[in-house]
Amino acid sequence: MAETKRDYYEVLGVDKNADEAAIKKAYRALAKKYHPDMNPDDPNAEAKFKEASEAYAVLSDADKRRQYDQFGHAAFDGAAGGGAGGFDFNSADFSDIFSDLFGFGDFFGGGGRRASRSGPRRGQDIVQRVRITFEEAIFGCEKEIEVNVKEECKTCKGSGARPGTSPETCPTCKGKGQVVVTSNSLFGQIQTVQTCRECGGKGKVIREKCSDCRGTGYTTIKKKYAVKFPAGIDDGQLACRIPGRGEPGSNGGPRGDILVGAVVGSHSTFKRDGMNIYSTVSLPFSVAALGGEIFIDTVDGKVVYDIKAGTPTDTTLRLRGKGVPNVKNKDVRGDHYVKLVVKVPDHLSSEAKEALRAFDAASGDYLNATKNAAKDGIPKEKKKKGLFK
Ligand SMILES: [Zn+2]
Ligand SMILES: [Zn+2]
Repeated sequence: MAETKRDYYEVLGVDKNADEAAIKKAYRALAKKYHPDMNPDDPNAEAKFKEASEAYAVLSDADKRRQYDQFGHAAFDGAAGGGAGGFDFNSADFSDIFSDLFGFGDFFGGGGRRASRSGPRRGQDIVQRVRITFEEAIFGCEKEIEVNVKEECKTCKGSGARPGTSPETCPTCKGKGQVVVTSNSLFGQIQTVQTCRECGGKGKVIREKCSDCRGTGYTTIKKKYAVKFPAGIDDGQLACRIPGRGEPGSNGGPRGDILVGAVVGSHSTFKRDGMNIYSTVSLPFSVAALGGEIFIDTVDGKVVYDIKAGTPTDTTLRLRGKGVPNVKNKDVRGDHYVKLVVKVPDHLSSEAKEALRAFDAASGDYLNATKNAAKDGIPKEKKKKGLFK
């Protein structure tokens, strides 16, 4: 199975000398295309996503990339019998990619997130992606969403300790949450400050855990929220932020927020690009030639459009103001572009054929063009049977 594994550079579609930025860019594009959220129930997309993620985990890490360049996939085969399943993704930094992958990049405040370990820390934001239809995105909608939220455990009131007991000061770090580790190296003794392993940096240990929250101090409950999607919202955009309802903070820090993003479905007739809508409409031959009124489907329903006589195929019409509303001002709308494709009539009744022959005779006699030419002395090429089959 190791032989069938594709080259990581090939997977990302980048050159062997590609720099960090190019690798990140390539991965971002693939992740966006194959992310399981975007392709539910598609095992092929999921496999592609995993393959790309694995390639990125290696090539974005200078050390791992060097090993890979030198030894190929064999560099990582030692772990758990090889294979992608046992691959360790933890070391690669995916967070900044996913935060802006779905358009949330600008909404993650930069400040306060890298606060020191011991000080108050704001909780993580919960990102919830909600599928809405093409029309719901255009006209706006309200949805009820269900979010898994951590609430303080009622049994232990958030302490994590079994009722009747309380957390003890960690004996290893004496409550500091950090320990100084001395190690010997070529350069002599080195002292490093590390997070205390016994208490995980909390400074307190729980001897008897609360059974309802298994010592975490929180229980997860499902909470419902009504969320508004503004008219004109596009795929990947943030619909709204519910402040202070995200993951709990630590050491007295505030909770994060819930960010709700839109995943907009496609439409069988309409395509969207920003504020404009595009569609193709079949135009009967007779209307194209003689002119007349046709129905055109728009997101507002059918409209009647007056076609000029002699309209050629592939003509594009613009229906002003029938496009997508501006997400900040729904009274401002884009346009709807309609491409007209003239339909050549087929499956004709004998009457219709007769009428067409009469039309032809009256408008140039094209059906008899070669016969008439032969009369004028142009030699007739013999039909070669089968030649054009
Ligand atoms: Zn509890
Ligand atoms: Zn400790």
